[in-house]
Amino acid sequence: MPTPIRVTIWNEYIHERQNPTVAAIYPTGIHGLLAEVLSTNDDLIIRTATLDEPEQGVSQAVLNETDVLLWWGHSAHDAVLDETVTRVQQRVLAGMGLIVLHSGHFSKIFKRLMGTSCALCWREVGERERVWVVNPGHPITAGISDCIEIEHSEMYGEPFGIPTPDELIFVSWFQGGEVFRSGATWTRGLGRIFYFSPGHEVYPIYHHPDVQRVIANGIRWAQPQEGNHTTPRHVPVDQAREKIIAHGGTVHLADGQLK
Ligand code: ZN
Repeated sequence: MPTPIRVTIWNEYIHERQNPTVAAIYPTGIHGLLAEVLSTNDDLIIRTATLDEPEQGVSQAVLNETDVLLWWGHSAHDAVLDETVTRVQQRVLAGMGLIVLHSGHFSKIFKRLMGTSCALCWREVGERERVWVVNPGHPITAGISDCIEIEHSEMYGEPFGIPTPDELIFVSWFQGGEVFRSGATWTRGLGRIFYFSPGHEVYPIYHHPDVQRVIANGIRWAQPQEGNHTTPRHVPVDQAREKIIAHGGTVHLADGQLK
């Protein structure tokens, strides 16, 4: 059996403790439910982390032991310290997978990694959403048929202020008429990123088996990739692949340092 994937589910964990509707749907928190269902997969080792923990739940030690990080936030994006964001970003660039869920589209870490507004249209009236597979054969869609039907959802609509995705996985239709790029992937450095939009907390969306399946598929897709990677560095003339002779002036010492 291959080495299990070490997953950390991060949640700001606020609405489940403040809003009775959300508390009834997720009595142990969104992270608690996701941990419970994802733990049924033998190839995943699950831990959870929340904003109120030391180092906001994502210390360097936790990140070093995380292959794929899930991120759920909504009301406390601004409470996430810039140094926390930088720590997570560096780990993604070094190869950790990142799965950004629902309102995480406006998290500091997603905006940092995308470099764009990540803004979108929205409406919270419990309308129907159909999450259409537009990339059949992609591993993130394994086991999903034509679309996922979500009876009550929050509308997220275009235009969505993201850079053009490397891969578009899902496009959602909403009862009110809007459409949305609800599943998309990018790479940043060595890290793989998957954004998946269903998950508004006043509806039981993470109880939906297909939604759970997509998240598990996403974790497997986003896990760090094998391979030897060259670290960017100064390459001295005597280490060039072809024999070459240095010409002209230089602003560098022999070791590559600036004079
Ligand atoms: Zn929402």
